Amino acid sequence: MAAKKKARSFIENVDIYFENAAGVLNYPAGLLNQIKACNSVYQMRFPVKIKGEFKVIEAYRVQHSHHKLPCKGGIRYNEHVNQDEVMALATLMSYKCAIVDVPFGGAKGGIKINPRELSSGELQRITRRYTTELVKKNFIGPAIDVPAPDYGTGAREMAWILDTYMAFNPGMIDAMGCVTGKPIGQGGIRGREEATGRGVYYGIREAVSYKDDMKELGLETGIAGKTVIIQGLGNVGYHTARIFAENGAKVIGIAEYDSSIYDPTGEGFDIEALAKYFKKNKKIGGFPGSKMLKTNMDVLEKKCDILIPAALENMITSKNASKIKAKIIGEAANGPVTAAAEQILLKKGIMVIPDVYLNAGGVTVSYFEWLKNLSHVRFGRLQKRFDENAFRGVIDLVEQTTGKAVKSRDKDLLSRGADEIDLVRSGLEETMIGAYKDIRNAKRKNKKIKDLRTAAFAVAISKIAESYIALGVFP
Ligand code: GLU
Repeated sequence: MAAKKKARSFIENVDIYFENAAGVLNYPAGLLNQIKACNSVYQMRFPVKIKGEFKVIEAYRVQHSHHKLPCKGGIRYNEHVNQDEVMALATLMSYKCAIVDVPFGGAKGGIKINPRELSSGELQRITRRYTTELVKKNFIGPAIDVPAPDYGTGAREMAWILDTYMAFNPGMIDAMGCVTGKPIGQGGIRGREEATGRGVYYGIREAVSYKDDMKELGLETGIAGKTVIIQGLGNVGYHTARIFAENGAKVIGIAEYDSSIYDPTGEGFDIEALAKYFKKNKKIGGFPGSKMLKTNMDVLEKKCDILIPAALENMITSKNASKIKAKIIGEAANGPVTAAAEQILLKKGIMVIPDVYLNAGGVTVSYFEWLKNLSHVRFGRLQKRFDENAFRGVIDLVEQTTGKAVKSRDKDLLSRGADEIDLVRSGLEETMIGAYKDIRNAKRKNKKIKDLRTAAFAVAISKIAESYIALGVFP
């Protein structure tokens, strides 16, 4: 009897994507191997007292690439965390940063715990002890390695990391830049929490703005009126759903850990009401007006224009890929589509917008936060009032020369100076639009590139290769 083929691991999938892109580029094998390899892998075990008993906690920090420093990437709290997964995620971070021109190497951390089963006190003890382990080995610091939120973590955990790091580094003036995704009152930046979801929106909006590309999919251009299904209503999924709905899309399906729901009217859920229901009941099943499906995976196979997996890796595999009816898959999560599944999807003519590009909004705004921390001043603080005065001067001049009064509502709109949130959003929008153009152009220019993922990886590999060459490491 033939042995059952073992499913590929996450890192093996990422390596396939790498090889596909490396194959259409002209770099020497030694350089490509250096780009592909994870530079440092730190595996730790430490004891923490949980519910009166000492538990040995398993945790990781992987720095995939040191071609630019600091390294950057989130920390994940999940019961399935393992070394292979953290290595794959760190690798994706290097390519992600390169694609959106964030001048960092990739990294990722993970702690193998189920945060839902732990109290806030227990989570705090684990987070502080993990940070201490990072400090001990020089694996954290504004110029070394800068963690951020990921699946199962948020601003609260980042504040604990900052506080622990500062306790070990008294007087370090740039200590705030040792972690991003912090609360606003602790050196965080406005717009970081929604950043990944907003980036997903800008990225897909750009992708659906090209008439030729949409014609191939049998779709009209534009977001308004498109039907959307989202897997995951965590930080990324919630903000993605909210911003798509705000811009006229119909979010007709949502999946969470307990179940998946569908909107039988086709008009799209009220996302705020759904988020409130989820927070209160700790489940989405039973949301008034929704139809509950048998499993939490079923909604992925429903008909829609855009399917957005925003949870974990390996969700669309060779098992369910042939049943997907969406025209576009936007990867808000890291690694939600396996390499084998992608082949099936592409054959069906589905457009896959890859994670390394599409969910890069988080790290982009993390970069802005790090810049803010190093410059010790809020964006907009110095020039907002100056700009407003200058704009008012121009309006006054227009009124004087035309003899016509500008309406006071228009005056307010035209003379507004930018706040931090305006600058963050416009910086993010510019980044996502520019990066999509790079990827789309790479695909159009190189006839050997047939899909957006290979194009995105090719852009990333080229940028990292050029950086190694500039360093003088490779001739
Ligand atoms: N965890 C996020 C990601 O996977 C954000 C990383 C960061 O901001 O450094 O991209």
